[in-house]
Amino acid sequence: MSHAIRMGLVGLGKIARDEHLPAIAFTEGAELVAIASRNAEVEDVASFPDLTAMLAGRPDIEAVILCQPPHVRYEAARAALLAGKHLFLEKPPGATLSEVEALIRLARQQGVSLFASWHSRYSASVSCARQWCTTRRLTRVQIDWKEDVRRWHPGQDWIWEAGGFGVFDPGINALSILTAVLDDNVRLIDATLQVPANRATPIAVDMAMATAGGIPVAATFDWRQTGPQIWQIMFEAGDETYRFVQGGEDAAHTLAGQESALTQEYRAMYRRFVDLVRSGESDVDVAPLQLVADAYLRGTSRTIELFEDWK
Ligand code: NAP
Repeated sequence: MSHAIRMGLVGLGKIARDEHLPAIAFTEGAELVAIASRNAEVEDVASFPDLTAMLAGRPDIEAVILCQPPHVRYEAARAALLAGKHLFLEKPPGATLSEVEALIRLARQQGVSLFASWHSRYSASVSCARQWCTTRRLTRVQIDWKEDVRRWHPGQDWIWEAGGFGVFDPGINALSILTAVLDDNVRLIDATLQVPANRATPIAVDMAMATAGGIPVAATFDWRQTGPQIWQIMFEAGDETYRFVQGGEDAAHTLAGQESALTQEYRAMYRRFVDLVRSGESDVDVAPLQLVADAYLRGTSRTIELFEDWK
């Protein structure tokens, strides 16, 4: 039996604590041997202030997991690949397409595995939606991803900084599902981005897209949603509709002893990562990031009223 892959994780924030650490502990073939954090430690795991110190202190690390915000990840990703480590990137895989392309090339040159994770694609409902769509002639797709930023991202200043994605941070999850469900390419036609005057990233976005075959796809992402939170994609085929719903609130509805959908997604991703490393393959799909980049390229940005998340 092969040994467990020795992993080092960087950026001990919300998603690292909530999902990565438990998923690594759960996964056969994965072992967390070190973490790098500017200010936190994990009991019984070697802790270092940054990636450089971690790689020097534990040269036996085989794979690095990067859980920082996207706009500060590139230098760490490059350093890990140059050190010959396999690499697991949180979503989105980078703040720009060009940096992701550079990482793909470097991973290939180094002969290591690169995994650009899209956790929403690991939901069991994605394969159900795909099955439904492949057996019908689709006529229209409507995405509504509307949540309350004050509730889900309190104090996360980076999401409002350039490269922090704003409402595209959750919205790109919907785009990762869309591009996994549809067989055809999706292209951006037009977009409107609403950006608060005191922020660099949008609080709301409307996107008009279409498949290469001409099926219209509309998306609305909005971070000002109070009341019921909505994460849904309606796939229409004539009179029939398939409603995909992401269970973002499901942690609150999960019974004791049951794993939330997000936990199942992260476990599945670590199984995938172990398989990729063992088979010497990479898995990097930039399609969701490309649509976001295209919305910035082709869309119209409108400056709107100031937004403070503490009000
Ligand atoms: P977070 O808690 O705000 O930050 C993650 C960690 O990154 C921080 O704790 C910090 O780690 C490090 N960090 C933050 N700002 C930094 C900076 N300017 N320079 C260097 N390091 C910095 O973020 P998160 O919610 O975990 O999200 C991180 C990534 O995971 C994002 O790309 C997000 O889209 C993705 N994600 C999040 C969720 C979620 O539910 N939160 C779900 C799925 C995916 P140290 O203090 O340890 O250095």
